[in-house]
Amino acid sequence: MSVAYSRVKQIGEGSFGKVHLVSDRASGCKHVMKEINFTRISAKEYQEARQEVAVLSTLRHANIVAYRESFEERGVLFIVMQYCEGGDLFTKIERQQGLLFEEDVILDWFAQLCLAVKYIHDRRILHRDIKSQNVFLTRSGLVKLGDFGISRVLDGTHDFANTCIGTPYYLSPEICENKPYGYKSDVWSLGCVLYEMATLKHPFLANNIKTLLTKILRGTYPPIASVYSVETRDLLQDLFQRDPKNRPSPNAVLRRPFIFARCRKFI
Ligand code: ADP
Ligand code: MG
Repeated sequence: MSVAYSRVKQIGEGSFGKVHLVSDRASGCKHVMKEINFTRISAKEYQEARQEVAVLSTLRHANIVAYRESFEERGVLFIVMQYCEGGDLFTKIERQQGLLFEEDVILDWFAQLCLAVKYIHDRRILHRDIKSQNVFLTRSGLVKLGDFGISRVLDGTHDFANTCIGTPYYLSPEICENKPYGYKSDVWSLGCVLYEMATLKHPFLANNIKTLLTKILRGTYPPIASVYSVETRDLLQDLFQRDPKNRPSPNAVLRRPFIFARCRKFI
């Protein structure tokens, strides 16, 4: 590994390799380093890893994990980025042990996530893997979208990317039907994350993939607790519209007054 960093501890097991908390030897600052061993992956997977670097390095936004640098050494691609001390949202949700979050907290986090997604969509980038494991929290309560491993930059002639990937729980109806992944598929996943924050559970759950797909296509999910506002409930319903065209864009979500009120401190 580069002489510039020393490993502090392992914090994650990525799909292609390990994720370490590292310390910059010169400054002592902490960062996260993702290691991708490309001697053991296919050419396509290597391209995806390079894609993550290419995409991440162009993004600069308060709600997106900041990229620092990347380098290759002896068959390993290292990606160094900002460390989010609060860890990922999935772990945060698990730690609640069933205790629901305050609605203010949920909507504050969700507004930040929408700002991140609006920012990438404005740049014709699809994230394609929005899920609580890929949403990070800082010590100061900022939310950062990360893991651009399977993101795609659309070229303008096609407004869709046509590979079928992702985590089954977050699959949108169009992906279940083998239709292309579009901007509104990211919006569906935003709905899944909002639902998870409100219930600490996935909206669509099943023991097997066939039942899961049926539930997603039917679009029925257990209601969220009545302590939450009707605005949040309505928003979820809109994010879970079966027809992608009927789902609001991240920008339209941000313009809803109950969300906009929480963004002012970020814009
Ligand atoms: P993968 O492509 O393998 O899913 P991720 O970038 O999502 O890789 O990282 C895997 C895990 O490592 C995350 O779920 C999280 O627990 C941890 N992690 C990754 N990046 C960071 C970060 N910037 N700050 C804190 N934890 C992180
Ligand atoms: Mg991930």
